[in-house]
Amino acid sequence: MCPLSAQNTPVLIIGGGVAGLTAALELDRRGLPSLLVDKGPRLGGQARGFCCKALVSCARCGACRVGDLLEQVARRPGIQVLTQALPVAAQRQGPGWEVTLIPQPAPEGSAPALAPALAMERPLAQRLVVQAGAVILAVGHQVFDPARKSRLGHGRVPGVISAGQLEQALAQGGLPGQARRIAFIQCVGSRDQVLGRLYCSRVCCGFALRLARLARHLAPESAVTFFHMDVQDYGQAWRAELAEMRADLRFIRAIPGQVRRGQEGPVVAYAGEGGQPQEEEFDLVVLATGLEPPTAAPAFNEMFGLQPGPEGFLAPGAGVLVAGTAAGPRSIAESIEHAALAAAQAGLHLAAGQPAPRGEVAHA
Ligand SMILES: Cc1cc2nc3c(=O)[nH]c(=O)nc-3n(C[C@H](O)[C@H](O)[C@H](O)COP(=O)(O)OP(=O)(O)OC[C@H]3O[C@@H](n4cnc5c(N)ncnc54)[C@H](O)[C@@H]3O)c2cc1C
Ligand code: SF4
Ligand code: SF4
Repeated sequence: MCPLSAQNTPVLIIGGGVAGLTAALELDRRGLPSLLVDKGPRLGGQARGFCCKALVSCARCGACRVGDLLEQVARRPGIQVLTQALPVAAQRQGPGWEVTLIPQPAPEGSAPALAPALAMERPLAQRLVVQAGAVILAVGHQVFDPARKSRLGHGRVPGVISAGQLEQALAQGGLPGQARRIAFIQCVGSRDQVLGRLYCSRVCCGFALRLARLARHLAPESAVTFFHMDVQDYGQAWRAELAEMRADLRFIRAIPGQVRRGQEGPVVAYAGEGGQPQEEEFDLVVLATGLEPPTAAPAFNEMFGLQPGPEGFLAPGAGVLVAGTAAGPRSIAESIEHAALAAAQAGLHLAAGQPAPRGEVAHA
């Protein structure tokens, strides 16, 4: 329980995923205390739930960087943490901001599904007003809801799941059902004119192909087909892995138009060679969903007087920095780099403005 009702901090970081954790650590390295708040009960953001995709060697998915960041943050007394804390109002105060946080209820009945609580994950108990010299918004992204592409069958056709659902199943030990004929469909919710989402989400090719390889490893008799437009290039090491994957998986350069219920499993309709319509039945169809702007983007734009950023993501403003996928699609490694830069910019903002409050706390 937290007895505070007012607090001063040089930097308020909103969002405790890899970006928020990195920003806090980078500020700490520069001698700047911070208050890191998250609306949820756990830190680590979306990547905390990702499974390890290593086979014989590391697949460089980045997921284990979350644990490293959490450990480091726990060891820094200059970083204060509050969970279940939602910012609801903000007012400009000199070069900084006064931000009001309200407590959020604990998620009902989901405790077993949550990662075990860390000692630093303490929920906000009462309304808290924070005066901060700068604010870093690290509120992450929204995962595209595949049911919005209803022609691809998610929630309607048995055997159609999202890549996130496959990850959860693999993390719990195996492929759903007796899936042996598996199709991945890429760019679901990204590069899509109908949805008005023209950008590439950057991470879903790597995510889906690593899951495909893990699925083949767990069920060597399975066959994987990968429907795609292009495959993202993640650098030299990735290109070597991709060459191996091209030898092991079937790559089809087409984005299917429809997935319908078949005799045994979902049937995928796509344009085959020469544009000929083709249909093929699978046991499992996995939709590689992309990243969308955070749902709270309009609320933050209004609260901090920000101009909407590219594609509806967040853009920085006076005394407000943005870090990680809140600013646009990024991998874990890229979010970490981006957040370190945002923290450096927050440091510059503090140095240029009034002397920053140094973390003293006023009790009610
Ligand atoms: C399907 C999928 C698969 C992916 N796979 C990979 C992969 O294999 N490798 C990889 O490198 N990247 C992957 N990514 C990208 C990865 O998830 C992001 O790079 C990473 O999560 C970004 O971290 P973040 O801290 O910016 O945001 P998030 O992880 O989204 O964290 C944001 C945090 O902010 C909190 N928050 C949100 N709103 C508020 C609010 N209003 N007030 C307070 N707190 C708030 C949330 O509770 C959350 O804890 C994948 C993404 C998706 C969608
Ligand atoms: S980077 Fe990914 S694949 Fe490699 S060890 Fe970490 S979690 Fe496993
Ligand atoms: S990363 Fe791959 S699947 Fe995702 S939007 Fe870009 S091209 Fe499509």
